[in-house]
Amino acid sequence: METVAPFKEIVDEIKEAGGETFKLCYQCGKCDAVCPWNKVITFSMRKVIREAAFGLTDVEGDSFWRCTTCGKCVQQCPRQVKQIELGVSLRRIATEYQVFPTSVKPVRTMSGSLAGNGNPLNEERQNRGDWAKDHSVKPFAEGMEILYFVGCYLSYDARLKKVAVATADILNKAGVEFGILGAKESCCGESIRKAGDEDVFKRLATDNIKTFIDAGVKKILVSSPHCYHTLKNEYPEFMVNFEVIHINQYLVELIDEGRLEITGEYNKKVTYHDPCYLGRHNDIYDEPREVLEKIPGLELIEMVESRENSLCCGGGGGRIWMETAKSERFSDIRVAQAQAVEAQVLATSCPYCITNFEESRLSLEPENDIEIKDITEIINEVI
Ligand code: SF4
Ligand code: SF4
Repeated sequence: METVAPFKEIVDEIKEAGGETFKLCYQCGKCDAVCPWNKVITFSMRKVIREAAFGLTDVEGDSFWRCTTCGKCVQQCPRQVKQIELGVSLRRIATEYQVFPTSVKPVRTMSGSLAGNGNPLNEERQNRGDWAKDHSVKPFAEGMEILYFVGCYLSYDARLKKVAVATADILNKAGVEFGILGAKESCCGESIRKAGDEDVFKRLATDNIKTFIDAGVKKILVSSPHCYHTLKNEYPEFMVNFEVIHINQYLVELIDEGRLEITGEYNKKVTYHDPCYLGRHNDIYDEPREVLEKIPGLELIEMVESRENSLCCGGGGGRIWMETAKSERFSDIRVAQAQAVEAQVLATSCPYCITNFEESRLSLEPENDIEIKDITEIINEVI
């Protein structure tokens, strides 16, 4: 028997925007039991789904903007409901009507910057490759072994440029013939798509794809799990297929093939945080650990929520651009989990995780401080 929805037009609109999955939900609540939001506030994806099924969604509200698309509920759902798709469909409707709650308003600015400059940070397109000056990085040319697709945060953000530089240093030391696209690279579009702006996503994706094809790109190296996910799993929607590899996978390859030699020691206790888009979304759990375990002196310790159960940093699904109250930051909890296992270094492989952890670190007392590192930064210290 079909559920009769009181607001059928809204239900139809949600279906049209890609949220039809609500039909599968039988309201068991298993999603709410694992959702990280329930560590800091009361939040119910089950309720968001229920409201959508009855056409009772408050399009101007902020409930469906909360989801970080971490994927924990997706793993648990006995009915294969696609909670992330539903959330994105509701955001598409809000974007269409241009109604945004206050905490989400920064997305509009980002959207304008993405459309105008190809990055969400209000930076000039022509400065995108500036980080690479003085680091022996060439523009990509056909026939090179690999294209390094740097991504927005690593291109412009002061903290994350260090990760781009560490990556370039590693590639040079390993003798990899690589290049970058500089000003011709645009944002991969992952976050803006999750924030509901499908038009801007399509424009960014097609710009990048055209640039890849024109430049003769075959294999692409990425640092961000968000770029990895989009280039590998979503760009094929445009009938293209490039070989995409994340730096953690590439590091294993380079070390195993003898191209990269670890010569130093790293005498610290390190814990590794699995970024949602590398772990849960793409099943890459072993390679980062394999890389860290190859380093002499490094002691790898696991946190209470690791691998498939990793705690989201709070930055996915476009949340990196939205306002989150300090008392609601998942990253504060994650940093505390790293401290609980007495790690000296919290290592990860994602620009959003690093941004959020560095932010949380600012509130720590000096005696409790912990280093936040990308795996490439650690490797670059021991080669
Ligand atoms: S776990 Fe799945 S079936 Fe259960 S309430 Fe959540 S979405 Fe619905
Ligand atoms: S994807 Fe993550 S944040 Fe979003 S509802 Fe599911 S568990 Fe919560």
